[in-house]
Amino acid sequence: MAIYYKTQGFIFKKKDIFEADRVFSVFTYDFGRLEIVGRAIRKITSKLRGGIEIFSLSEIEFIQGKNRKTLTDTIAIERFNNIIKDPNKLEISYKISEVLDNFIKGQEKDEDIFILLNETLGKLNNHKLQTPIIQLIYYYFLWNFLSVIGYHPEIQNCVICRLKLNPHSLYFSNKNGGVICKNCSGSDIEFKEINSDTVKILRLILKKDWKILSKLKVDIFSQNLFGEISDNYLKYNLTSPII
Ligand SMILES: [Zn+2]
Repeated sequence: MAIYYKTQGFIFKKKDIFEADRVFSVFTYDFGRLEIVGRAIRKITSKLRGGIEIFSLSEIEFIQGKNRKTLTDTIAIERFNNIIKDPNKLEISYKISEVLDNFIKGQEKDEDIFILLNETLGKLNNHKLQTPIIQLIYYYFLWNFLSVIGYHPEIQNCVICRLKLNPHSLYFSNKNGGVICKNCSGSDIEFKEINSDTVKILRLILKKDWKILSKLKVDIFSQNLFGEISDNYLKYNLTSPII
């Protein structure tokens, strides 16, 4: 007899296979990442269709077969409709999905990631957002996600000598995983010069202080600098996984 499993999860990727099947990548509360097949789900008569959409939070029921998991029932809990309707928000959601897909390969429960996804998609779904805030939500997810999976950056003291940081002379090191002081920066070109606003954004993100973060006034130079070090830190850790 088949065993039925029931859980909740965020659908972050889908891929069509065969004539009418679709494989969903779902980050679930109970099992972490799962790949679940919706058999004949692309047929107009499929009863499963309505309950499982990209970026929705759904309750899903499935059976574990010999090689794969098959979807047996699904109910949408939260559809995040404002994300689906807005191309900018949708683009951010795909970036989040790509980060998940690249770092989370196996099945492993992680409540922190589940909560972070719920929080991030909830913020993104807020219909009053301006473009810089939409970008900021992506980085909010990115840094907190990287921290949860083991890439938490050191931002309080110099990551090399551990001394207090001077706000007028700051550098970021992907290799060492954090902010470093002028003395330690030497002539290594790997270290990127940053400023105190960049560190301020990073601290607020990691403190999850969204109230202050969303109202923070930062000039365009610092915004771009922050984006650059964030993208580089992601790229660096994608290609140099923890051993
Ligand atoms: Zn130092």
